[in-house]
Amino acid sequence: MVLGGCGVWPEAGQACSGYLVEHDGFRLVLDLGYATLPRLLQYITADQVDAVFISHGHPDHCADLNPLLRARMLRDDPPPSLPVYALPGALDAVLALDRPGMLDAGYVPHEFTAGDHFDIGPFRAQTRLLPHYLLNAGVRLAAGGRVLAYTGDTGPTPDVVELARDADLLVAEATYVTRVPEDSQVHQSSARQAGRQAAAAGVGRLLLTHLQPGTDHAAARAAAADGYGGEVGVATAGLVIDLG
Ligand SMILES: [Zn+2]
Repeated sequence: MVLGGCGVWPEAGQACSGYLVEHDGFRLVLDLGYATLPRLLQYITADQVDAVFISHGHPDHCADLNPLLRARMLRDDPPPSLPVYALPGALDAVLALDRPGMLDAGYVPHEFTAGDHFDIGPFRAQTRLLPHYLLNAGVRLAAGGRVLAYTGDTGPTPDVVELARDADLLVAEATYVTRVPEDSQVHQSSARQAGRQAAAAGVGRLLLTHLQPGTDHAAARAAAADGYGGEVGVATAGLVIDLG
């Protein structure tokens, strides 16, 4: 379930990066960008989140961890502490929004190094360092014989292909349609590059996300389809993909 797919800042009525991934009743949230919490609360309550994985520390990927923790803690019957998986230091800024210590009991930090493999509930998670302005971990989640790969934010790299190899679904950052500005070419991707990498990885399906606000979705899909013959979608709030 897509909570939001806007890159950089949220558009009217939309949210930034956030995805609810469910298997066997376990609810994992991948990224919690600006405005994703209200979207999440349309479907489940704050205490029904079982774990959170944050790809990197930019606020369009983690800002709404603060209101999620508030919604869990500042109530009469707070749920158990929330496992939060993130790279070292990635959450320092968002966790500093409230007074020191206020939210400490609300979460259990699980710091990892990009490249680590570990379990999150029923999911086998494999992480991989992908190039961005700050440390960013792509993640490959496997459960029930199905695989979802998510890039977080990344420049084009063969590591995306390895992360997504034969995945059923690749959720790929595509901030731009075809042309990436010179100063961003190492750190961000286009829909065209995402399509080429999806093809190289042999993924079953491609979902473009993190589109710069104002981007023509049809143009992004067409640019990705240029190099990839499978189904291409654009992440928008409420989109559900069942990997069966
Ligand atoms: Zn970023």
